[in-house]
This record gives sequence, structure tokens and C-alpha cells, in this order.
Amino acid sequence: MDSLWHDLRPAQWPPLAADQEVDGVVVGGGLAGVSAALALASHGQRVALVEGGRLGQGASGRNAGFLLGGAADDFLTLAAARGRAVAEMMAKLAEENRRLVKTALGEAEGGSALEGVGSFALAVDRAEAEHLVRLGESLRELGYGAVPAEPEMAGPTLRQAGYLGGLFFPADGQLHPLRLLYALAAAAERLGASIYEATPVAAVSSDGKGVTVKTGRATVRAGVCILAVNADLARLFPPAGAWIRPARAQMLASRPLPRPVLNAPVYAGHGFRYFRQCADGRLLIGGFRNLAVEAETSWDLELNPLLQDRMERELALLAPDAEVERRWAGIMAFTPDHLPVVGALGPHLWSVGGFSGHGLALAPLLGRQVAEMALGRRRPYPALSPQRFAGDLEP
Ligand SMILES: Cc1cc2nc3c(=O)[nH]c(=O)nc-3n(C[C@H](O)[C@H](O)[C@H](O)COP(=O)(O)OP(=O)(O)OC[C@H]3O[C@@H](n4cnc5c(N)ncnc54)[C@H](O)[C@@H]3O)c2cc1C
Repeated sequence: MDSLWHDLRPAQWPPLAADQEVDGVVVGGGLAGVSAALALASHGQRVALVEGGRLGQGASGRNAGFLLGGAADDFLTLAAARGRAVAEMMAKLAEENRRLVKTALGEAEGGSALEGVGSFALAVDRAEAEHLVRLGESLRELGYGAVPAEPEMAGPTLRQAGYLGGLFFPADGQLHPLRLLYALAAAAERLGASIYEATPVAAVSSDGKGVTVKTGRATVRAGVCILAVNADLARLFPPAGAWIRPARAQMLASRPLPRPVLNAPVYAGHGFRYFRQCADGRLLIGGFRNLAVEAETSWDLELNPLLQDRMERELALLAPDAEVERRWAGIMAFTPDHLPVVGALGPHLWSVGGFSGHGLALAPLLGRQVAEMALGRRRPYPALSPQRFAGDLEP
């Protein structure tokens, strides 16, 4: 069950067939892993990236393509839970990530792949509407663009579909996530990184001198290893079960519609619902996971009929003549505090992930930064370290 984005598959890489010795090995070919491989290669390292299936077969090729600000929890929610300094840090990281993404896409395609149309956060009830008013005030005080918005600004049918006012974020955008991934992979290859697909890693072990990564056919020995395997982290590194849990998300896409239904991507119901219209007129709807949290705590890429029906009803409210063309699901990695986990798991062994459904906003940058940490060029963020969940891990 491929996503809409998987129709674009410009490249295919061979499996790893023979043992290798490199400076850095990255496990996982999503946005975080490919970005980490690019960063290692840009520092002159000999790099191998090992992906179990195809590049982008995980969440990075299945998401909604919203390029948003901040972290998974909004600024006010995060400030209340983890303190204002952490919330400000995450807002700055997402801003830097946005610049990185724009540069990566600009270099690849003259900037055309990022639809810089802003985004809307709309309320589904009065309490959320009041929360969004307060959120807008806080963000504007910090100098971020957050403009009060009415549902009509997002699209002609949104008020009658039940949405209330909220915020417009002019700096956000929407994109084709696999275009971004392939742009980063091409840049990594230009700098000499070797990419291997269809090569699942079975075991990783580190010792005083480096790391050994075992795949079915061959072994990679490296000075540093970065695990960027999303919700699969606990399978390769069992202590990560203390901080990573899988969360499935459902999506559907309509056939192209001949008119604008949405002026920009819309996030609503505290992010549990999201809609966008692609440049070719297709409407994409995702979310409603809050209606089936237990069933959606899964590694299985199955469709959930209850949630797919709910999304189809939402599609009919937005555009009664829209027909569903594609349905898919993807697996996200959630952490207990909804912040990513970036740091050392042990000697020479690093990890990046746990984006809690917000990885487009953070994975390209934090993938790059974990590589810089592994090379001793950047200090880890204590607020994002794995040790916050597993104090006995040796960094
Ligand atoms: C339906 C959906 C909608 C979303 N919408 C948005 C959005 O609009 N905006 C946003 O910011 N975020 C969104 N997200 C979240 C975002 O897609 C993720 O946070 C991000 O893509 C995670 O990137 P990653 O590189 O950590 O993981 P992934 O892209 O999942 O990459 C991990 C890779 O590791 C590989 N792997 C796993 N185990 C092994 C192994 N043993 N050996 C080798 N390889 C292995 C997998 O095959 C996979 O390719 C969405 C997610 C989903 C599922």
C-alpha cells in the first residue's frame, strides 16, 4: 500500500553485498538518516547508508508534507510541560530546519518543490479557539508570524464543515516529501556516500574502537554509527523501548479537483486532523488517530476502516464531489514528552528519531546535527538526550 508520493521513484540502489569498513555508517533511509549521511560526507567521512527496504518507505515517504514550525506540541503546551527555554529552543530549531529544507529543495529544483503558501491552525471547539488566541499572542511576542484567521481564509467550505477561527502561519509550506528526500540523497552521493537498499540490519554492537553493523549478507565496521530507524529503534536497541512507541497514522488522497478547496494546508483539532490540496488539485486528508489510539499503536501498515470512513466523511464536507483515489498508512515514532531523541546510546553509537509526528519540521536538521555530535563538532542538547528516559545509558 504505497503512498501518493511513492509514484515518484527516480532511483534505486543496490543491496550491500560485501563487508565494508567506513568512517561512518547510518542505518535508516528516511529524512533523518539521509540527512545524517549527507552531513558525515560533507565532513570528509567515508559513509555507508544502509536501508532495510527502499529509501522513503517509512514515514518520510508517507506523510502529509506539511512543513510547520515548532515541535509536535505547540509552543504554549510545550512551555507548560518542559519550560519556556525548551519551547523557544524547539521553535528556533524548526526555523533553522525550514531554511535547510528550502535550500535543499532550491538546489534540487529551483525552489519549485516547496509550495510556500503558509499554513492554518483552526479550532474545532471554543476551548481550542481560545487556546489559539493565546498561542498567537505568545508567538507574536517572540517575533514569529502568527496571524489571527477565520476559517473562510483557509477555504470556502471550512466554516460550514464546522471549523472555527485560529491562526495563519505565513512562513510554513507544503511539499512533496520524497522530492526532499531524494534531493538530500543525491547531495550525499555527490559527496561520495554509498547508499544500499534492501539491506535490513539485524544487529548493531559497539566496542572501544567502533561499531559493527550486521546485515543478512555482509558486515559494516565503522568508527561511528547513527541509528535513524524511527519506531524500529527498540528492535535494534532494546533499551529504546523506554522512550519510543509506534503510532500509526492514516491518510487518503482524492482524484484531482478542478477548483481550489484549500488555500493552504490546514491543521485542526490540536493537530489530530490535517488537510491539504496539492498543486494538481488532489485533496489529502489525514489524522483522526485520537478516535482509535489503542488500535493505532501499531507497527502494522494496515488501513483502519473506522478512521478511513471518518476521513472520507470529512472529504465530503470539504468537497462533496471528491472521489477517493488512494489510501495509505504510515508509522510514526512517539516519545513520552513528544520531543525527539537525539544523542549517544553508547560509545560510537548515536541515534536520532522520535519526532512524534512532526519530523518534516525537525528531521533534516537534527539528522545533520546528530552527525556533527558524533564527530565531536556539536554538543548534544540535554533536553533531547536519550538519558532523559534511561539515566543508566552510558553516553
Ligand atoms: C501519515 C503521516 C503523516 C505525517 N505528516 C507529517 C507532516 O505533515 N509534517 C511533519 O512534520 N511530519 C509528518 N509526519 C511525521 C514524519 O513523516 C516523520 O516524523 C519523519 O518522516 C520521520 O523520519 P525518520 O527518518 O525518523 O523515519 P523514517 O522515514 O520512518 O525512516 C526510517 C527508515 O529506517 C528503516 N529501517 C528500520 N529498521 C531498519 C533496519 N533494521 N535496517 C535498516 N533499515 C531500517 C525503515 O525502512 C525506514 O526507511 C507524518 C507521518 C505519517 C506517518
